[in-house]
Amino acid sequence: MNPVLKASGICKAYRGVVALDGVSIELPAGSITGLIGPNGSGKSTLFDCICGFQARDAGSVMLDGQDLAGLPPQRIARMGLRRTFQQLRVFPELTLRQNLLTAAQAAPGFSYLSELLRTPAVRAHERQMMERADAMLEEIQLTRLAGALAGSLSYGQKKLLELGMALMNEPKLLLLDEPMAGVNPTLVEGLKEALLQVNRRGIALLIVEHNLKLMFEIAQRIYVLEQGRLLVQGTPEEVARDERVIEAYLGR
Ligand code: ADP
Ligand code: MG
Repeated sequence: MNPVLKASGICKAYRGVVALDGVSIELPAGSITGLIGPNGSGKSTLFDCICGFQARDAGSVMLDGQDLAGLPPQRIARMGLRRTFQQLRVFPELTLRQNLLTAAQAAPGFSYLSELLRTPAVRAHERQMMERADAMLEEIQLTRLAGALAGSLSYGQKKLLELGMALMNEPKLLLLDEPMAGVNPTLVEGLKEALLQVNRRGIALLIVEHNLKLMFEIAQRIYVLEQGRLLVQGTPEEVARDERVIEAYLGR
C-alpha cells in the first residue's frame, strides 16, 4: 500500500544550529507511528518541516504521492494533513462550538462576494459545518459545554477540543505533538481511547509523546530521533530492547 506520508532527507538548521540532519520517515496509510527522542532532538522541528510551518533546508515531503514542496501550511492542511501543537492553540474567548467552526474550512467555491451575498451554497455549507461541529462535540464528549468559553475548560478538555478542531475536515494524517503532556492521569486513558477511535476511522497518526508506555501500546512503528538524526526505527518491541535507545534516554 502507498504510504500516506513520505518525508525524505529532511534537513533544518536554525542560524547554524543543526536541528535536523537528513531525517527520512514513511507512514503507511491508516497507521499509528510514534516519534520519540530526548528533548531538543528535533521532533517538533520535524513536524514543522513536514507541515510547512518552517522552510526546510533540504529534503522532500510527499502526502499521498503529492509533493508538498513550496506549499503554505493552510494549503497543506486542506489537503488532509493536520497537526496539533506542543503549546495549546484554542481560542479562549470563543465558545467550544465557535472554536470548532473556526477550524472548518471555507465552502468549496468560497469567495468573499458569495459570503457577502450569503448564497444558498454558503448557507448550506454553514449548516453542514454546524452539524459537523455538534457531531464532533459528541465525539469528544463535550456537548454539555458547547456554549461555554474555551478559556473555562480544564487543560485536558482543551486538549480534547484541540483534537476536535484538527478533525473538523477529516484529515488523512494527523500529527500530534505531545498529546498527553500536562494531562491529568485520570484523563490519559480517555484521550488514548479518543486517539484510537480517530485511527479506526482510517486517519493515520504520527505522535510525539514522552509517555512511552502509552506509545508502545498504540503505535505499530516507532522512530527514535537523537540530535537531529534517526537513531533507530522498528516495532515497539524492537525499539524497547535496543541498547542505543536505552543509552540515549539514560544518557550513558
Ligand atoms: P524537540 O521537539 O525534540 O524537543 P525541537 O525540534 O524543539 O526538539 O528542537 C530541536 C533543536 O532546534 C533544539 O536544539 C532547539 O533548541 C532548536 N530550535 C527549535 N526551534 C527553534 C527556533 N525556532 N529557533 C532556533 N532554534 C530552535
Ligand atoms: Mg518538541
